[in-house]
Amino acid sequence: MEIKSMHFKANVSAKLADAVLQGNLKNAKGKFVVKRAEAILDLDDFEGTRDAAAAIRNKVIDNLDLWLEGFEQKARDTGATVLWAKDGAEVCRLVIDIARKHGVKKVTKSKSMLSEEAGLNQALEAAGVQPVETDLGEYILQINDNEPPSHIIAPVVHKGLDEVADLFHKVHGTPRKTDIPALTREAREVLREHFVTADMGISGGNFLVAETGSVALVTNEGNGRMVTTLPKVHVVITGIEKVIPTLEDLSTLMRLLPRSATGQSISNYFSILTGVKKPEEHDGPEHLYFVLVDAGRADVVGSDFHAMLRCIRCGACMNHCPVYQTIGGHAYGWVYPGPMGSVLTPLYAGIENSIDLPHAATLCNQCGIVCPVRIPLPDLLRKLREKQTERGLRPLTERIGLRLWAWVALRPALYALGARFGARYLKWLANGSDRINVLPTAPEWTQGRDFPAPQGKTFRELYAQRRNAASRA
Ligand code: SF4
Repeated sequence: MEIKSMHFKANVSAKLADAVLQGNLKNAKGKFVVKRAEAILDLDDFEGTRDAAAAIRNKVIDNLDLWLEGFEQKARDTGATVLWAKDGAEVCRLVIDIARKHGVKKVTKSKSMLSEEAGLNQALEAAGVQPVETDLGEYILQINDNEPPSHIIAPVVHKGLDEVADLFHKVHGTPRKTDIPALTREAREVLREHFVTADMGISGGNFLVAETGSVALVTNEGNGRMVTTLPKVHVVITGIEKVIPTLEDLSTLMRLLPRSATGQSISNYFSILTGVKKPEEHDGPEHLYFVLVDAGRADVVGSDFHAMLRCIRCGACMNHCPVYQTIGGHAYGWVYPGPMGSVLTPLYAGIENSIDLPHAATLCNQCGIVCPVRIPLPDLLRKLREKQTERGLRPLTERIGLRLWAWVALRPALYALGARFGARYLKWLANGSDRINVLPTAPEWTQGRDFPAPQGKTFRELYAQRRNAASRA
């Protein structure tokens, strides 16, 4: 997928000015937050389960090579073929090779963020293979000129009912419908035809179980089962960090994933798929391939960002992020939005390609609080900011400004004078009110909102006043 995260500020301005998007974001805001809050109450030991989940993920990523070798061996024992891709281009090449080998003309796909990373749909089309997205959200995006998803679990959350109604009417050539069950039925009828005529199914994988060589799939629409069992070939594309040791570990992680993602105690469909179809079985693929993808993940192992590999892609961090809630997912400019995306995009797509993303956070720590595997997202965002500064990637004016500030901060008398002057200047700008409409030194700040004018004395003045009072008492 094309990287547009270097245009973050321009993207944000466009998204803030988009009245339809803003309305849709407002409607969606908080729905997952409330459901998650309710769902975690029925877990006996939510905090203990989070500790256990983080420990499981740590255990794997601390020795990732060993667990991957174990998974590869078990998967081969079940009749699967395990392939390794170092980047998105290799993913596309491997999948197209598989398609050619089996004479595939049409592929049905269940949601896979890694195939978005790789730009797989475009590569398949160029190779003469028709990809059909079957997750309802992904399908809507595909028929809307291959629009990218804006959320990792609710890819079409940025769209309203009217937009989908118009799109179905235009693309399917059917009478315009505006009730959700009718639209869903229409999509189901279109997709059913593709399910039964596809030669190959492509899915992601929520987890790879090393103990059994299985892939675990979590979906809410049942499309995952159609994609993975009807065609004669099934290809699983997933990141190397998705491996977990045992089925017991899977049950621990599954207590957290749906609850954190959509507020469900269990997703509507949950499949554990192991090996190819056996002679006595009626359905399942005759050929099963795992494409295990690095694409920057191996470089994160052992780095300052090691903990990020614990991510189980639940989306809770973006659901709770005030920045994501305001701008939506497309502004982030790549596959992964929200706080997890602001860490992953610099790591996988290049820190220089995503200079503003680590700053696209208030550091309020809502993301860190809700992350089911306790990833310290604000700390990782801060570390990325440090890396940018170390590499001299921040704008010159910012670097000069911060050096000047540091120089002044080391001289208390000068700092006090500057703070007093600054407060008076801001009060003068406020012109007797408690708001400043335009900040000449930071016009972007006041473009969409007022800046609060300082009230009363400065912190240093109050501190000195209290210290004097205390010493007199
Ligand atoms: S960083 Fe945590 S909260 Fe965000 S998607 Fe990953 S597991 Fe979920």
